[in-house]
Amino acid sequence: MCGIIGYSGYREASAILVESLKKLEYRGYDSAGIAVADGDIKVEKKRGYVSSLRGNLEGHTGIGHTRWATHGEPSDKNSHPFTGCTGEFAIVHNGIIENYMRLKEELTEKGHRYESDTDSEAIVHILEDEYKSSGDFKKAFLNTIKKLEGSFAIVAIHRGEDRIFGVKKESPLIAGMGDGENFLGSDIPAFLSYTNRVVIMEDGDVCELTPESLTFYDFEGKKKEKKGEYVNWTPESAEKSGYEHFMLKEIFEQPIAMESTIHSLFSADTDFPYYGRITIVACGTSYNAGMAGKYLIEKILGIPVDIYYASEYRLRPEVRERSLVVFITQSGETADTLTAAKIARKRGYKTVGITNVLGSSITHYVDNVIYTSAGPEIGVAATKTFTAQLASLYYMGLSMGEEYGILPQMKFEEFIEGFRRIPRLIEKALDYEENIKKIAHKISDEENMFYLGRGLNYPIAMEGALKMKEISYIHAEAYPAGELKHGPLALVRKGIPVVAIVTKDETYDKMISNLREVSARKAMVIAISSEREVDNYVDYRIPVPQNGSLFSPFANTVAVQLLAYHTAKLRGCAIDKPRNLAKSVTVE
Ligand code: GLU
Repeated sequence: MCGIIGYSGYREASAILVESLKKLEYRGYDSAGIAVADGDIKVEKKRGYVSSLRGNLEGHTGIGHTRWATHGEPSDKNSHPFTGCTGEFAIVHNGIIENYMRLKEELTEKGHRYESDTDSEAIVHILEDEYKSSGDFKKAFLNTIKKLEGSFAIVAIHRGEDRIFGVKKESPLIAGMGDGENFLGSDIPAFLSYTNRVVIMEDGDVCELTPESLTFYDFEGKKKEKKGEYVNWTPESAEKSGYEHFMLKEIFEQPIAMESTIHSLFSADTDFPYYGRITIVACGTSYNAGMAGKYLIEKILGIPVDIYYASEYRLRPEVRERSLVVFITQSGETADTLTAAKIARKRGYKTVGITNVLGSSITHYVDNVIYTSAGPEIGVAATKTFTAQLASLYYMGLSMGEEYGILPQMKFEEFIEGFRRIPRLIEKALDYEENIKKIAHKISDEENMFYLGRGLNYPIAMEGALKMKEISYIHAEAYPAGELKHGPLALVRKGIPVVAIVTKDETYDKMISNLREVSARKAMVIAISSEREVDNYVDYRIPVPQNGSLFSPFANTVAVQLLAYHTAKLRGCAIDKPRNLAKSVTVE
């Protein structure tokens, strides 16, 4: 995974490349580099953040890369772009070249000298050979990509030319159409400051870019007609707008993200086939959203829902039961989830994809797509896309219930009413930030924590623990509160923070007993609860309004997100770029 950018136009390329790379840094940030093509190819690249690049190479056509290493450690020599033996081309690559070992053997036998340990470098050496025989950049590029196996988005430049070639196969690449300038980037925010007119590339698309034109081909060089479309994201929506971190901005954007997600869910009016059984497949935060979806759908529709981590789903043998399979991936590029979706398709299952990114890879592998319209999410720790995914699963339950007349547990109107109130509920929960900040001070020196919940709020406890781990590096474990006594209670000792989500529903009395269990062991108990009575059993309470049980996960999510954020901030962590993590995990 990484971010790539290409620019050709009337402006100085370097400054644009560096600025775009900063927007793409959430995709990977162990190394960064740029190259320009006017005259001789010039390169600046190094290990570290994009901010370490000077970005003063002269030229109007160039490419850039921000890396998340898969092959070869993060180092200056392994940073992209690569220029090969002759220095007449430069390439950047996102993905994995699976046949790189064989290619490397062949190429070194032919006399090519490698400068790096990466899989990507093969590309530029093949390009050199192909150019030697054809003398044409386009032919050479097409011949090169045909030799590659695996997943790749590649952008390449040639000495003295203002043309850029790009290709997309199982890694994202999007073209941006400007006036006298054009762009290729891993995502839309990369060039959103310059244009909001985009062409979504699909797997197998090749793009020839000049300052004046964008032309698309297939791998054989046959022209493809592709239409541009306008996106309604503003550059500001991809900036921090005064917040200290993207994560905090994105937490506070949730009411708006929710409004637009709800609006788009209702206007898309997707049909879902009914099999009487659903299987949800996802990773990370999306998995937690899926888990909440399982509890919710089972509760309101009374049909069984299974949930799998995508990396485990692929190992699952083919079972006889028919089920609608739902894949959730914020970026739409999560490799584990895409592989699982391919398997499901091969087996002939009906599938649904839930994603935040228009035209992303998952949309090509499923029968139906639900778009969460949360806007671009830059912070590595997902926040607004989590609540948007939750809303989408709620909507899916609702619309299936209505269509198939199976909403046994509640009235349709009641549900719609609650659904429409979600943005207000989240807004009110955000008002408790100061209260949460104070609690963060109490826990910021701890190294271990527990999160407890039951039923629909157990997945929110899971999400709370995941957020805390990801950004504050505190080891946090989530348990269904009833499980505590079956093992983990052994770890509960004086002062250990235990965050418990306590909602006034059928789980309430049992949760109170669990609070007693942990406070008897002198844990520091923090409840997320609107019930005053809970004060009797806990040290601190975050009184977000929960509005009954069914929609309470939305308010409770805000509380766990803010708690993780403020704790990480007190610990001085790199909140938007947690160590070892990257936003969209495009490798298995
Ligand atoms: N596989 C390439 C590398 O390790 C590209 C990784 C990426 O997508 O950042 O350099």
